[in-house]
Amino acid sequence: MALGEFELIKRYFYQSARAFGVQMGIGDDCALLQAPEGKVIAVSMDTLVGGIHFPRNADPELIAERALRVNLSDLAAMGAEPLWFTLGLTMPKVDERWMEGFARGLFTVADEYNIALVGGDTTRGPLAITIQVHGAVESDHALMRANARVGDLIYVTGNVGDAAAALAVIRQELTVGKSAFNYFMSHYYRPQPRLKEAKMLRGISQCAIDVSDGLLADLGHICEESGVGAKIDLERIPVSTALNKVAEAEQIADWALAGGDDYQLCFTVSPDKLGQVQALIDAGKLHANAIGEIVKGSGVEVLLEGEVFEPKRRGYNHFDTDA
Ligand code: ADP
Ligand code: MG
Repeated sequence: MALGEFELIKRYFYQSARAFGVQMGIGDDCALLQAPEGKVIAVSMDTLVGGIHFPRNADPELIAERALRVNLSDLAAMGAEPLWFTLGLTMPKVDERWMEGFARGLFTVADEYNIALVGGDTTRGPLAITIQVHGAVESDHALMRANARVGDLIYVTGNVGDAAAALAVIRQELTVGKSAFNYFMSHYYRPQPRLKEAKMLRGISQCAIDVSDGLLADLGHICEESGVGAKIDLERIPVSTALNKVAEAEQIADWALAGGDDYQLCFTVSPDKLGQVQALIDAGKLHANAIGEIVKGSGVEVLLEGEVFEPKRRGYNHFDTDA
């Protein structure tokens, strides 16, 4: 970007300094970062394009919050702790009010999760936001999609389906009262990356994914990568009280199974570690529910009271539909 680019970066993005291992952050040709000893660096990137991933006139504070939170969720799903991020910002013009809101949202989340902005690029063009996050994890504690084994139990944190309900509200397909409205919107715009949960699972779970495309689709990725199948019980899939109040069972099942954007963790635990995960759950430290089991074969089978349940939608195309 031409004149004023540096001023712009200084004013809005020169904010975080106190992160681990930052020898040089914003301001030189590269950032210089020191990896924590004995750990590997986990890297993930997501791009949000205006008019495709969010309406161009959406609140910049919410766009920034969501963009960073969604990236942090990928670190959680790998079992990594956040360290640094970079930001690619493409904008049609410099709009100071937009920038102010964007920076506010960005640093609210960055401060909450202790992740430092260490660089980026700013260009003129159609509105798009790219964030790359960097985290660290001991290599033998990374939660890999390929690590599910037959006999493992499958868990999901929190509740699923709330973000899909939020989307229905945003699209005016669902009308809800004020408190439910606030509840659903906060779940959609401010998803909570499950970093604390991921940390607790260190040494207990070897395999996780974050539920971004929908539980069936994402558990399907675990199955594919691990060369296994999964059986889950519909009645054990956790949904919120709020969701139970605003929709019928069939709609709830669809949102919980195929709705995306919840950013919960779906993880597996081998039989010898079940006591440890249950102890965390019983102590109220970990909010997670066992929803089924990893089995031989391929694809995800859903059961309702022991009978095969055929979901209305399965989610994404790369999902294995052989189940
Ligand atoms: P270069 O010409 O070497 O690419 P830039 O002028 O693009 O350098 O950037 C100068 C400094 O500002 C670099 O440290 C870069 O990482 C940082 N920077 C540029 N854009 C952003 C942004 N959107 N967010 C954070 N840092 C940025
Ligand atoms: Mg540049």
